[in-house]
Amino acid sequence: MRVAAKLEQIKQQINEACLKVNRNPDEVKLIAVTKYVSIDRASEAFEAGIKNLGENRDDGLLAKWSVLRDKPDWHFIGTLQTRKVKNIIDKVEYIHSLDRLSLAEEINKRADHKIKCLVQVNVSHEESKHGLSAEETIKFIESLRPFDNISVEGLMTMAPLTKDEQIVRDCFRKLRELRTQVQDRNLDFAPCTELSMGMSGDFPIAIEEGATMVRIGTALVGEDG
Ligand SMILES: *Cc1c(COP(=O)(O)O)cnc(C)c1O
Repeated sequence: MRVAAKLEQIKQQINEACLKVNRNPDEVKLIAVTKYVSIDRASEAFEAGIKNLGENRDDGLLAKWSVLRDKPDWHFIGTLQTRKVKNIIDKVEYIHSLDRLSLAEEINKRADHKIKCLVQVNVSHEESKHGLSAEETIKFIESLRPFDNISVEGLMTMAPLTKDEQIVRDCFRKLRELRTQVQDRNLDFAPCTELSMGMSGDFPIAIEEGATMVRIGTALVGEDG
């Protein structure tokens, strides 16, 4: 199926989720995660009108960037090795995976302007997932104060892979509550307005719980079916 057709379906689902909880769909930024697909397919997504693209590896980002350049806003959503920061730093609009001080130091050092970062939280404490625990998050964010080139725009999480909707919803809700706690600190370097949560399998729930950015791969740009 063409991306344009899938996009219509996804937009409709976004609208329905927003309607349920009285939100304006304009508050939800749709990021097409192109990590599994070809450069051509990523271009197709951009041409279909999706202005935000997400990649989780530096080489994948660079390959697609070499064709699409800075026409889309690029989102780096994967685990970021410190030594890879310099490859992507001047190409991305957002980094969704800030999860440690050494990474913050490197971003701060390599950037020539303020980089919009989201702090990745492992709400569900899964071994397999990166990110800070909810308990560590506030302290971590406060420790970012000295870094002039880092702005904490929000929080990011991945929900556990489960069919139990309540577990997924609780995870998203906890991230939203954590955002409130950060906002209550009134830190000028951490406005923390964004909630990056929701993927192909769970984005309607994430939107109901307040997501401002959804990261959708398979359901939006998947090349099968
Ligand atoms: C791959 C990935 C996604 C998109 O996953 P889908 O299930 O294909 O929508 C979203 N967020 C992150 C961090 C990812 O790595």
